[in-house]
Amino acid sequence: MDVVKHKNSEAIYSSYQVQNMSEEEQLEIKGLLICRECGKNAWFRKKSVDGKEPCFSAKHDDECKLKKSNNSTKSKENRMSQNKREADTNVIGIKFKDYFSNILLLEDGENTTEGSGKTGNNKNIYDKDPTQSVQKNWTLKRILDYALDNTLEKQGVMITINKKKLPLENIVHSWASLNINQGGIQGLFWGYLHSSDNSIWINSDKKYPYNNFSIKLSENIKKRFWSFMGKIEGEWENGVPAIVFGQIKKVTSGKYYIEVDDLSKLYINQRIYKSNSK
Ligand SMILES: [Zn+2]
Repeated sequence: MDVVKHKNSEAIYSSYQVQNMSEEEQLEIKGLLICRECGKNAWFRKKSVDGKEPCFSAKHDDECKLKKSNNSTKSKENRMSQNKREADTNVIGIKFKDYFSNILLLEDGENTTEGSGKTGNNKNIYDKDPTQSVQKNWTLKRILDYALDNTLEKQGVMITINKKKLPLENIVHSWASLNINQGGIQGLFWGYLHSSDNSIWINSDKKYPYNNFSIKLSENIKKRFWSFMGKIEGEWENGVPAIVFGQIKKVTSGKYYIEVDDLSKLYINQRIYKSNSK
């Protein structure tokens, strides 16, 4: 698991957040962490020297949704024995993964990932830092989870962008609070989607012109997008969490949008989207 809850304060902790705590701070929360789904005790597993990411384990209830992410006892023991902190914990890259194909439909969890994305022709704006021997790559899904939990800053990680390192929270923006100075900037933008014209615009519809941010699907990807997602008429109840990478553009009406011409630059919570389908 990437995230747990404090038994008493109910505060949410992520694995990178705990990894970056002092040993004193780690001791303070020891024994007080629980699975946020089933409430069973959870414990922290440090980043290991062989490159496994920090995470949490728990003895979940049988029906707990987060149970599947538990590793075997054997690998747990191996990882518990690794106490060494590594300097590169704080630097991550981004793995651009295409979620809009059936092969990946069931793969909802977060895997340890090395190297570049699954396709060779991705233009990775977030380069690997050549000075780091091991660099972890996070998916858009994972970054969206942190944004939704409001824990981007707490991760304490840097992302490499155009050979520069930037704090994660500085390149991930909520589109609900975009301001005029952000026109033209490139980054990750997240928020809730509410509707579509079922063609090239998401979060934009003649009947629902209330959003100030839209996603535009380019002609070459729109067919695959809709055949995978399925079209839904009307407003999407409660909004569908999503995150997109790209450069902010502006239409003459003053509305902001990002054009997507590569589906690996977009992640939409498909479970919530499909729950809107009648
Ligand atoms: Zn659980």
